[in-house]
Amino acid sequence: MPRTANIPALHSPPVLEEAGRRRTFAVISHPDAGKSTLTEALALYASVIKDAGVTHGKSSRHGTVSDWMGLEQERGISISSAALQLNHRGAVLNVVDTPGHADFSEDTYRVLAAVDFAVMLIDAAKGFEPQTLKLLAVCRRRGLPIITVINKWDRPGLEALDLIDGVAGRTGMAPVPLTWPAGRAGAFTGLFDLRSGEAVRLEAVRGGALPSLETPVPGGSGAMEGQWREALEEAELVADSHGEFDREAFHAARQTPVLFTAAAKNFGVRQLLDVLAELGPAPSARATAEGGHQPVDAGFSGFVFKVQAGQDAAHRDHIAFLRVCSGIFERGMILTNARLGRPFATKYAHRVIGRSREVIDVAWPGDIVGLVNAASLRVGDSLYATEPVRFPEIPHFAPELFTVARAADPGRYKQFRRGITQLEHEGVVQVLRSDRRGEQAPVLAAVGALQFEVAQHRMAGEFHAPATFEALPYTLAMHVDAKGSSLPETFRGGEIMHRSDGEALALFADRYKLAHFREDNPGVELTDIGA
Ligand code: GDP
Repeated sequence: MPRTANIPALHSPPVLEEAGRRRTFAVISHPDAGKSTLTEALALYASVIKDAGVTHGKSSRHGTVSDWMGLEQERGISISSAALQLNHRGAVLNVVDTPGHADFSEDTYRVLAAVDFAVMLIDAAKGFEPQTLKLLAVCRRRGLPIITVINKWDRPGLEALDLIDGVAGRTGMAPVPLTWPAGRAGAFTGLFDLRSGEAVRLEAVRGGALPSLETPVPGGSGAMEGQWREALEEAELVADSHGEFDREAFHAARQTPVLFTAAAKNFGVRQLLDVLAELGPAPSARATAEGGHQPVDAGFSGFVFKVQAGQDAAHRDHIAFLRVCSGIFERGMILTNARLGRPFATKYAHRVIGRSREVIDVAWPGDIVGLVNAASLRVGDSLYATEPVRFPEIPHFAPELFTVARAADPGRYKQFRRGITQLEHEGVVQVLRSDRRGEQAPVLAAVGALQFEVAQHRMAGEFHAPATFEALPYTLAMHVDAKGSSLPETFRGGEIMHRSDGEALALFADRYKLAHFREDNPGVELTDIGA
């Protein structure tokens, strides 16, 4: 097994070696930028690991991977976010799915708590789009390193240098190209690998069904003409203004490596895979709630970043997705839930790919494990084998959708209350209350509409308390602190509500109402949620 440079050479325990091979990341993008296409392309070049320790080659794009993608949409209300595991040049890549489109939800943000870095995918014609910016903001708050990928270079788009300026401006990081395209957007004929100095001509094979054909350009970069020379000059211009690649600066999120791709044709995908394997940060010591750090070679520990429940009403199915932080996970282990101080048996541990599951027997730091029968687990729970450890709570994120929930049958109010509380604990929705609205009409708050669909479905199917939802005209919320004086329950264009963690939230119809509130209440402090 190849050692990586940052691992002690002598007798390094297997857990350090395995952790050192892991690259755990999420692809952040706006819908349609090509996330599914790129993920499939990565899987085409790498081998997909199906069982722990066993690798299977993939012969076409239409196997497990597309099922995994397609299954996202199979049921209107199921979110089957999971991790795809790939093997490339001795590295194990855990690609953790960030649900998008109609599945966009608080879970999409929470995934970013479970990864060590992100690949930010940008459509060459569209540049930065709203969902990318939202996810980027979360990455920046977490200090996550980011690899920038400019996709769809085979289609007409913006100028490469303008895109690079955009990356610098939007991310606040220095963009450092590792590949540079020969030819403008729409005329993607070749690629420079700026790390190796290698230049290749690119041709799609079978419409992108197979890896692209790469023909080395003879003569080296010195003897190049036309668009090759132009490409090299542009890349040098960027290096002059933003500096050379520095691994430490990338891992500290001060630099973002930039690569150009056409995922649909598999152009630049091999180069990206090499960068992920060679330069992507491996799992490292993780901050604990007490302010310490949990080294990757400590006893087993991990935390839950997502709970999926009610997929299968008949089975009362709860899957908790656990990110392994330290030690070795072995199926059958009895773990302790740090919040409850109670044991959790891991008899049923799975790798979840869409709705199909494969038993996981062993997992290492950086890996994602799906724990089945996990009704007692909540988002943010820490689990450990022997030495107690607690990881920080995953923060709440700013909701943008608000609805009043009521029991459709007032006779079932008890079940209604139990269901709402359970959904709140699992993190399916945020639940807001105020004296004015009363206990019977809590306000549910969400990042994406899917969260409400899931809540409504589970209220009826699982808690036997069908609920009616009535949308409120608010679009933004902020933490509010009156600094000791009392807060109004309502104000021009909004109201103030409370979450069960004690936070007061002010809800506004729009930015103008927010500005009015600021004018009318100069002594009240407003802060962003999740900041
Ligand atoms: P997602 O919503 O981000 O997962 O985007 P998809 O992967 O579904 O891609 C959206 C559309 O863009 C699909 O029609 C893809 O075939 C197309 N697409 C993705 N990557 C490329 C690319 O590099 N070049 C071109 N021309 N089309 C692409």
